[in-house]
Amino acid sequence: MLMGTIVSIEMVVGSSGVANGIMDKVWAEAERLERVFSRYLPESEISLINREAFYRPVPVSDEMMNVLSRAADISRLTDGAFDISVGPLMKIWGFFPEREGRIPSEAELAACLARVGWQAIELNQSERTVHFLKPGLEIDLGALAKGYVVDRLTALLIEEGIENAIVNAGGDIYCLGEYPGGRNWRIGLEHPRDEDEILTVLELKNRAVATSGDYRNYFIRSRLRYSHIIDPETGRPSQSKVVEVSVMAPDCLTADGLATAMFVMGADKGINLLKKIDDVDGVIVTEEAGEIKLYFSDN
Ligand code: AMP
Ligand code: MG
Repeated sequence: MLMGTIVSIEMVVGSSGVANGIMDKVWAEAERLERVFSRYLPESEISLINREAFYRPVPVSDEMMNVLSRAADISRLTDGAFDISVGPLMKIWGFFPEREGRIPSEAELAACLARVGWQAIELNQSERTVHFLKPGLEIDLGALAKGYVVDRLTALLIEEGIENAIVNAGGDIYCLGEYPGGRNWRIGLEHPRDEDEILTVLELKNRAVATSGDYRNYFIRSRLRYSHIIDPETGRPSQSKVVEVSVMAPDCLTADGLATAMFVMGADKGINLLKKIDDVDGVIVTEEAGEIKLYFSDN
């Protein structure tokens, strides 16, 4: 268990002794990453930034700078549908720190929206500092940190000489090399409303896939579903009719971030954007009037 999700790794190696040695290094790295990125740990780098960055520019690690810059890139690319400053909104809708869904009042929502906006996160590359230009701003990296962890753990496996493996952090996956027997790794996409059913199968080799959905972290009030992906424009759980998105990319951070963004953008805009980005593909699943529909990008 890491950052609230199950992380699993399967690798093809000569002996279980070698595998165990590598696994020890992998878990040490995974625990290190949790101490950097987890909002649940008050001493993590991200928690420190959230406490201090409005009052002064906070010096950050190269790793944090890299992740924050890439988050800003995805915000730019998606016209703000992707926005890591949704932190305060996650709290008023009851998704963080506990999962106890609640509906905020209009006044609460308006006050909270004033604290949100990715452009108010000022990154100074040469000084390597982060400064918040709005009081009460809070960063939440839930939409791409898992993907970054997958990329880091995969890099570590490659350093250790592993050529074939699959790294999975709660559905954010990197497929390294091949499945034993010389075929591509195959990832089944779960049906969003029936976990025993597979919607479609994706084949990957040296490629990442990440999935966002409204069926794991949500609550229901008056028969309406409120999921944990928030439209930063309205401050409310996304109403785009998208119920599941899988994005494939060369690295898992990109796949993870874009999958969350597609959820907010909706099927048409989302597919159009995926078609424009080189080497990125995806499947967007919608539900309208009880009917499940799949939209694919070019490949
Ligand atoms: P994922 O499961 O990768 O789609 O990430 C969902 C998580 O990302 C949520 O639990 C929030 O922590 C965060 N989040 C919610 N809405 C957004 C958004 N519009 N942009 C970026 N992060 C978001
Ligand atoms: Mg994501």
